[in-house]
Amino acid sequence: MPPYQVFCQTPDCKKPAQYKIAARWSDGQVSELKTYGLCCEACLTKSLLRARERYRACRLLPGETPEEPGIYLLQHGKRDQSLQRLVEKEATVTANI
Ligand SMILES: [Zn+2]
Repeated sequence: MPPYQVFCQTPDCKKPAQYKIAARWSDGQVSELKTYGLCCEACLTKSLLRARERYRACRLLPGETPEEPGIYLLQHGKRDQSLQRLVEKEATVTANI
């Protein structure tokens, strides 16, 4: 069992978070998973859209190569680098927009 519970970050939503909206980011030397937010199933579309808006509004420094934010399965005790990206889920979610 997870050592602690994390919750959806949508205002007024009190459900447990199931997903992490994040993007792989690299400046050419270091690469990391940049977190945009945590959300539940019901808030997934909204959260992904908001993250992608933020991504497009963000100015880049030379050498920065961030990916577009995607959906990662939240797994307790796993390092960000080893989280699984849910590509099919992203396709389903963005197909409904
Ligand atoms: Zn939610």
